[in-house]
Amino acid sequence: MNYSPNGPYIFTNPKSRNYGSSVEQLFISPGRKRNNLLFMKSKMEEKKEREMNALDKHIQWIFERGENRKTKTLCPHCKAKKVKYFSVRYTRLGYSGKKSDIGCSLGIPYSACEDCLNKIKGEKTEIFPFKFSVIDGFPTVYDQKKAIELFLWAFNLKRPLKKETIFQFFFEE
Ligand SMILES: [Zn+2]
Repeated sequence: MNYSPNGPYIFTNPKSRNYGSSVEQLFISPGRKRNNLLFMKSKMEEKKEREMNALDKHIQWIFERGENRKTKTLCPHCKAKKVKYFSVRYTRLGYSGKKSDIGCSLGIPYSACEDCLNKIKGEKTEIFPFKFSVIDGFPTVYDQKKAIELFLWAFNLKRPLKKETIFQFFFEE
């Protein structure tokens, strides 16, 4: 894709439910906000390339960028290499079989570089890379929120996060 944005894409239409937010902010938000963006992405994917507007191109761009960001934080186990993966432990909370009945536990101690993977492997765990698409696999908004906080830690993004800061993070190679 030969699209290179100059800055964050901000929703400027007061009638938009995302008014005042940037695409980048929605991208790193759990639940409804990120879902709005996923919906816009699905609409974009139905279009031919020549039909795509600036928003479509920006959405396509950020979803690609979200898959190849470089982590900045050192692995909590060896403190030598950058953290690369995290593990999620699933616990069944109820018997209804609903997604919301499955609890997830994840966090800094369950993150590791490729050399320390064995430290975070265990029963009922699944290992994930720090790719933003992973966030959509979590069953609840609460778990998505926890995952996003872990991502911010791994990428050394500190709150409060300005629109320009988040944009730069996705823009840099
Ligand atoms: Zn390590």
